Amino acid sequence: MIRKSAAEMAKSLASGEITSVELTRAHLDQISRVDSQVNAFLHIDREGALEQAEQVDAKRRAGERLSLLAGVPLALKDVLVQKGIPTTCGSKMLEGWRPPYDSTVVRRLRENGIVILGKTNMDEFAMGSSTENSAYGPTRNPWDLTRIPGGSSGGSFAAIASFQAPFAIGTDTGGSIRQPAAVTATVGVKPTYGAVSRYGLVAFSSSLDQAGPCARTVLDAAYLHEAIAGHDPLDSTSINAPVPAVVAAAKDGNVGGMKIGVIKELQGDGYQPGVLRLFNESLEILASLGADIVEVSCKYFDYALAAYYLIAPSECSSNLARFDAMRYGIRRGEGSAEEVMNATRQIGFGREVKRRIILGTYALSSGYYDAYYGSAQKVRTLISRDFESAFKLADVLVSPTAPTTAFKIGEKANDPIAMYLNDIATIPTNLAGIGGMSLPSGLAFEDGLPAGFQIMAPAMKDDLMYKAGAALEAELVFKWQGPILNLAPKLGAR
Ligand code: GLN
Repeated sequence: MIRKSAAEMAKSLASGEITSVELTRAHLDQISRVDSQVNAFLHIDREGALEQAEQVDAKRRAGERLSLLAGVPLALKDVLVQKGIPTTCGSKMLEGWRPPYDSTVVRRLRENGIVILGKTNMDEFAMGSSTENSAYGPTRNPWDLTRIPGGSSGGSFAAIASFQAPFAIGTDTGGSIRQPAAVTATVGVKPTYGAVSRYGLVAFSSSLDQAGPCARTVLDAAYLHEAIAGHDPLDSTSINAPVPAVVAAAKDGNVGGMKIGVIKELQGDGYQPGVLRLFNESLEILASLGADIVEVSCKYFDYALAAYYLIAPSECSSNLARFDAMRYGIRRGEGSAEEVMNATRQIGFGREVKRRIILGTYALSSGYYDAYYGSAQKVRTLISRDFESAFKLADVLVSPTAPTTAFKIGEKANDPIAMYLNDIATIPTNLAGIGGMSLPSGLAFEDGLPAGFQIMAPAMKDDLMYKAGAALEAELVFKWQGPILNLAPKLGAR
């Protein structure tokens, strides 16, 4: 049962073939079997999950009308607050902190009867691409336990790739949903900025952060997307417009006549040959299904990474000022408030977070503000214009999701620039505020490891990504004689 899709689980629940308690127990058992190897979870809420499951079962027995996903379990990235449940953001700073309220995402999950199994590991405050920056040890990639699962939402994706949960919530500031999806052969969607409420999402870079669905199929991602998206008065950047019909689009999965633009700047140098080959094979499939493949150029994308690494650290330096030893989490040191604050931030934050705070503080300092932060904002506008022109030529744009397959744990730990390059293909969409999806494109010939295919759509046209993604997925599932996860090593198999 745990190897089924969330949609199939939902059907079995509705037909009475299984109960939510049984389904939740099956996942908790799998967590017990494999998570000591994977380290996907920071906190497992056994009792809470079983209690939620029991409530859904009771309602179903009483004949109440339930939402489609009611009773299906989920893993939640530890950057979204859930009332009373430890939330650490992968940081020592928040050790022992229990939030007094639910994030809007959690509230919506509950309203849909989705059972929350626990909180997943992540790079500290979502800064990273490998989940190695967690204060609680790295998460391992279920495809090869010596490799990274991507990041920063690595725990969420490792959980679904090792069947510890059918789907999960991640967040994406520069690629943290799409890049881990790519290296674990799963599906990850960063919705349009403002589509999913950020209320209760611990902020890294507020103008870029966006929560989204992590799943094993495009349709499961669509169901979860519709469950969590929608206007929220508690988030001033939330979009007040109807949620695009992503489930209908995923069911339709037709690319006949769709114009698909291949971004010239997001391939070639620095991309692993096996990743590029899979990308080109996927393009051929889309063409054979009737899509019209065109090439587009986005010449300012070459500056996206540089602009991101000024804007994101600048916002982070300001957002993380709230961890002052007075309001949340740990308190260390003695003496004046300043001494306590210094000691706490020294101990509470890891290396990468400190690096970002220093970078951002510098970029925002008077005298450098215009040269760095101001210029980066101008580049951001140019990147949005690149997208606007490209979307005049194509309905959706595509690229490989990440330049390489999963690298070894430790391989890039001391080379921040090499680490930052992982997000070269995902960062432009965050800067422009548009949506992006990653889905599996196959296993690279060099190492047999998964690679991802990225689809980007104009703002609030997220349905187009689901349409194209579902079309490609159906063909690839056929080619692999089943979902690509069938080929995954069977962790904890009995
Ligand atoms: N890897 C990028 C970073 O370190 C993106 C992280 C994210 O999307 N949260 O900033």
